[in-house]
Amino acid sequence: MVVDEQDLLRSLNLGEIVPYYQPMRELRTGRLMGFELLARWSHPTEGLILPAIFISMAEKAGLLPRLTEQVLASAFQSVGDLSESVMLAVNISPMQLRDPDLPYQLFKAGEESDFPLSRLVVEVTETALVDNLDLATEITRKLKRMGCSIFLDDFGTGYSSLAHLQTLYFDGLKIDKSFVNGITRVREDRKIVAAIIGLGQSLGITTIAEGIETEEQASMLLYLGCDMGQGYLYGRPLPASGISGVVDVVAPVAPARNAFNNDEVSLLSLGSFPIERAAQLHAIYDGAPVGLCYLSRELRYISVNRRFSEIEGAAILSMIGRTVKEVFPDRFSLYEPYLRRALGGEALRGFELTRPALHAGDPNQVILFSCEPARDEANVVIGLSLAVMDITERKQREQELKESELRFRTIIDLNPETPWILDKNGNIIEIGSKWEKVTGFTREEVLNRGYLDTVVDEDREGVIEIIQHCLSTGEPMDFECRATRFDGSVFWIRLRGKAVLDDAGKVWRFYGSTEDIDELKRLREMVKAFTARSEGHG
Ligand code: C2E
Ligand code: MG
Ligand code: MG
Repeated sequence: MVVDEQDLLRSLNLGEIVPYYQPMRELRTGRLMGFELLARWSHPTEGLILPAIFISMAEKAGLLPRLTEQVLASAFQSVGDLSESVMLAVNISPMQLRDPDLPYQLFKAGEESDFPLSRLVVEVTETALVDNLDLATEITRKLKRMGCSIFLDDFGTGYSSLAHLQTLYFDGLKIDKSFVNGITRVREDRKIVAAIIGLGQSLGITTIAEGIETEEQASMLLYLGCDMGQGYLYGRPLPASGISGVVDVVAPVAPARNAFNNDEVSLLSLGSFPIERAAQLHAIYDGAPVGLCYLSRELRYISVNRRFSEIEGAAILSMIGRTVKEVFPDRFSLYEPYLRRALGGEALRGFELTRPALHAGDPNQVILFSCEPARDEANVVIGLSLAVMDITERKQREQELKESELRFRTIIDLNPETPWILDKNGNIIEIGSKWEKVTGFTREEVLNRGYLDTVVDEDREGVIEIIQHCLSTGEPMDFECRATRFDGSVFWIRLRGKAVLDDAGKVWRFYGSTEDIDELKRLREMVKAFTARSEGHG
């Protein structure tokens, strides 16, 4: 490419250095926050020339202030027409930040185009700060007083110094695209980006990632808590004619994810910034009715919640920083096999462990125990998350219930009568197993209205009437009728039942039993016949 300072001067005079605009978006919502002004040399024969070629040329020729003034004037026009919330970011080279006239230049440019400087972001690089921090500090302070925001560009590549962040009161940190590029592949890049975002958050400075090209990168940045982003994913630098097409477009938002556990997005319903997330998680953690703790790979307690300390019978401070073996030498062998399995990557859920009680004389403690391996972004197990519940009492109640049920069953089985439960509509909803032995009809055949089929035809209507009467009045049930067995033989039964009322005083159920009175009936008949005969003889 053969262009020189003469060409540049000629092009400047002809207005061939033009602003291009790249959208900057809020990562969480996809909302347009503003445009970064990127200068382009629209050369008549060489085509579009990038700033890497002509900015240093302009700097050397002393043309940069004029170039900036020219592209800014044009950009103020184009962006000035857009919504007030749309910002314009302009790049200022290190040399310009050594020019005490810079604030006045920008002030004049804003005034001439009637562009409020509160919408102007000035992007500076750290190179500008190194050998002239005092002047740079003074200039940036002036710019801030004029309403401008100051972003530190290409952060991480220059002479990054915390002193700069402290003295210059930046509003934004732009994470250099070289780190963003590697964020999903290179662990070190990811760590640097996470650290920059953390730094920004603790200083209350907005973080902006540049050079976002893929959705995976956007997801990871959002996961790490980055505020804003720009890059080819959201749009390449456009000429003025293209910006109106971008303004109303809300870019699709990539879900916040780390690179590896793509389907584990459960934390997303929490606040999206790590600090916010941490605060929320801490509150949940500490108040949880379940014992929770986090162990490092060396099985050292890193964090423990209140309930955990109660269940384990040890003060939180006596556990933190020490290994499970050190804190519980006696119990360790019980836990160890499970913890080792989890360290191997297995998630253990809902295991029951029985161990001696904390206080002598108490029953053994039954613990419901889950252990989940915690992984880093590279899927390596870095620790274990434990959840424990003391289910001793529940276990005891279950045992008691089992015993009481057994007692109840035994009594029923020993009882010569067959118990049953009738609901308020006259359906049998439960019947003792003895009935099947007595009649040969299965439980299923008798349930609901099936029992009526076993009553002999001549008695059935009367039985229905009695049952209906008892159901509507709640009067006790006591009647005799004839029933058939599966083999067709007929026998006498006596049904007795008592109503159970609901809260409104209406019949809810009848609890009762059926007695086989065939033998009794026959005896009664015999006695009757005998008596009649003796009377006849008498
Ligand atoms: P910068 O301020 O860091 O601008 C970002 C650069 O990254 C731009 O290059 C932009 O086109 C490029 N970029 C944006 N998204 C992506 C992406 O997704 N992937 C990749 N690989 N690159 C992306 P550009 O336009 O060539 O500008 C280069 C540098 O020139 C700028 O770096 C800025 O420092 C400087 N510059 C641009 N315009 C001006 C200007 O008007 N004045 C001054 N002083 N410097 C300028
Ligand atoms: Mg920039
Ligand atoms: Mg940059």
